[in-house]
Amino acid sequence: MFKPYLLLLISLIYCFSAQAQKPKKPTSSEIYQSIEKLNFLGSVLYVAAHPDDENTKLISHMANAVKARTAYLSLTRGDGGQNLIGTELGDLLGVIRTQELLAARKIDGGEQLFTRANDFGYSKHPDETLAIWNEDEVLSDVVWAIRKFQPDIIINRFDHRSAGSTHGHHTSSALLSMEAFDLASDKSKFPNQLKSVDVWQAKREFFNTSWWFYGSQEKFEAADKTGQFAVEVGDFYPALGLSNPEIAALSRSAHKSQGFGNTGTRGSETEYLELVKGDMPKDKNNIFDDIDTSWNRVKGGKPIGILLKEVQDNYDFKNPSASLPKLIEAYKLIQKIDNSHWKTIKSEDLKNVIAACMGLYLEVAANSNTATPNGKVDLNLEAINRSAQDIKLISIVLSDGTNLKKNTDLKFNQSQRFKSQINIAASASYSTPYWLNNKGTLGMYNVDQQNLIGLPETPRNITATFNISMHGEILSYTRPVIYKTNDPVKGEVYKPFEIVPEVSAYISEPVIIFADDQQKDIQVIVKANRENLEGFVQLAHPKGWNVYPEKQNVAILHKGQEQTLVFTVIPPKNQSEGLLSPMVHIGKEIYTKKIVEINYDHIPFQTVLLPNESKIVRLDIKKRGENIGYIEGAGDLVPESLRQIGYNVVIIKPENITAETLNRFDAIVVGIRAYNTVDALKFKQKQLFDFVEQGGNLVVQYNTNAGIIVDQLAPYPLQLSRDRVTNENAEVKFLNPNSELLNYPNKITQKDFEGWVQERGLYFPNKWSKEFTPVLSMHDEGESPQEGSLLIAKYGKGHYIYTGLSFFREFPEGVAGAFRLFANMLSVGKESIKTDQQLKN
Ligand SMILES: [Zn+2]
Repeated sequence: MFKPYLLLLISLIYCFSAQAQKPKKPTSSEIYQSIEKLNFLGSVLYVAAHPDDENTKLISHMANAVKARTAYLSLTRGDGGQNLIGTELGDLLGVIRTQELLAARKIDGGEQLFTRANDFGYSKHPDETLAIWNEDEVLSDVVWAIRKFQPDIIINRFDHRSAGSTHGHHTSSALLSMEAFDLASDKSKFPNQLKSVDVWQAKREFFNTSWWFYGSQEKFEAADKTGQFAVEVGDFYPALGLSNPEIAALSRSAHKSQGFGNTGTRGSETEYLELVKGDMPKDKNNIFDDIDTSWNRVKGGKPIGILLKEVQDNYDFKNPSASLPKLIEAYKLIQKIDNSHWKTIKSEDLKNVIAACMGLYLEVAANSNTATPNGKVDLNLEAINRSAQDIKLISIVLSDGTNLKKNTDLKFNQSQRFKSQINIAASASYSTPYWLNNKGTLGMYNVDQQNLIGLPETPRNITATFNISMHGEILSYTRPVIYKTNDPVKGEVYKPFEIVPEVSAYISEPVIIFADDQQKDIQVIVKANRENLEGFVQLAHPKGWNVYPEKQNVAILHKGQEQTLVFTVIPPKNQSEGLLSPMVHIGKEIYTKKIVEINYDHIPFQTVLLPNESKIVRLDIKKRGENIGYIEGAGDLVPESLRQIGYNVVIIKPENITAETLNRFDAIVVGIRAYNTVDALKFKQKQLFDFVEQGGNLVVQYNTNAGIIVDQLAPYPLQLSRDRVTNENAEVKFLNPNSELLNYPNKITQKDFEGWVQERGLYFPNKWSKEFTPVLSMHDEGESPQEGSLLIAKYGKGHYIYTGLSFFREFPEGVAGAFRLFANMLSVGKESIKTDQQLKN
């Protein structure tokens, strides 16, 4: 069946997968490896849930030793993780981890695919995961990936029978993969996809088991493995000078935001695969047993296989270009085969091999890294052939339709350089991750074009196509426009060429808290992305709030320049929250996006367009005490948040914890995981407990139960557990409605537990001595009530409070109830201080 979209779709995937990174300049040995790969027609799809779940040893082995097309389907982009290298979280972390996966695949030779599922945070059970994801949509995307990639073999990282014993996303990835294995071949399932892909039946499916599914290395070694397929992954590749585990470690080390730097090993190593669908390979050494992975697989493929085998056997490492005539012959034959899947893939791979054999270098660089729709950009083009082969540059066709006719011989090592200009269409779409274009849900990205689903990145369609005649055939090479510059320290630096809006604006603070009715001045920074920008700016705001002036003019002369405007925002009398969004009017257009740039050395420069809005919160909050000492732990934004509501917060270094320092404060707050990460706190508990005894408040936020550096966390016995409540909307019961924490100075109600994000809390204590009073009870579905989220004990004249509630997550999101409850924790026992009202009277 002829699929008009298929070719376009597949060519998009292959042309742009390595976009805007430094161009690959393969060595003679690497070219040889690619030629070997041209002769293998088999595919493996590895399936798991997150960036970093994938087994890079197995992926690298399949791609480099077996020579199979190998892809990793990560259901999510890892938005919910932690970031060890910067401040990006959520959507922006997902962008970084997407690029880290691409960097990893560039090293291990795999390809990368995704679904629309969003990594919304931890879930305990696949039922919970699949209720938050749109199960049908994610299943549809896994089926789509299978139909598009056409794997012979599917390997799941996780066990579909592991519900409840690992992250719900993990088990879900295996469950959906098992289901999709069967559905992908069923014409009646997701029939809309069949406009651009065919049905597909994979041959067999495995679960990539490992010792950790058995509890320990010893148990795994002792286990009966007769039903498992063993794969030796300790290969050594002389052409690359690396062992397979060394490549796998380099690949794994690309996950820098996760801190997954990894050291490679050498020597024999085995991976075990448990068959979960299809039949076991009879040949113990061939996972593709009973699958034809030669060119005979394709009708008309036999002579191609013979030709390419000859190329492989006669490959001249000193002069790869000697293979050109045979490679072109093979290329011509491939154009005649019917199988559009293999035709597209192998044509593209072969074209790349041909270019590499000749040292053919083609580049199109813009003189700026950005342009706006309707704009014009100057281009520098370069074409050079570094072989003795006679080839001719026929023409260069730009994506705006400009046809630069050349008919120039590309003579040995003679660089051809041209200048041109490209027009950016008025309708050109902005360069931004496609999955963030529309507002999604907690569990799903919202992608409206089927053909974008699954792609790792937004295709870049500002390009130049070089048409080159060689041995009677014209081969077309399409290159995305890039930008490159010289950095005095780093040398040559490549950046993607981006289409951006004419103007972008932002407010520095994502959340602005108004703890009383005082007005605040808010800075709006407007950046011109073209010359001579003129217009005006208004601040959209919620009802009941006032902003002055109503509008301000903006006039910026040069591209890249910024102008700062100050607006006064007046909050309402009562508690209220909403969004503050700068709207920049230029002519008839209104611009409402901000540009976020992500710049790290290990991934390509990223430009992300996000809604330009800040949350504003008018809190109805009372507080007692003013001076807070903060002892930092693993890092959180709690001190800044407390400052926003008017506390005077001082960071106390562990070495400065003395009775004298502490006594200046009304309360001391200990940052998250401080007793896991700050060794110096080992010897400071006595001073902290003394501070409480003499009337101070000590608030300790969550620590994990493993690796606590002190013997005694609290003045009374207290034991941490792994209990957590991951549902941020879980019902909260007041165990002790009269507790001061729920009444003073703020009356806490159910409303204060609305609008929480990601989770309620984690690592709650599960045992405590009678001196502690538990205040709240909550639990995830199907679990017993947990009462350790907030505990208070009187000690001497003061109070010790331990809380696993996730204030560190709620504060940066401006969750009002979290602020009110925390203010009560800091105010306990401070009745003697006069109330605001009394002071005013
Ligand atoms: Zn994971």
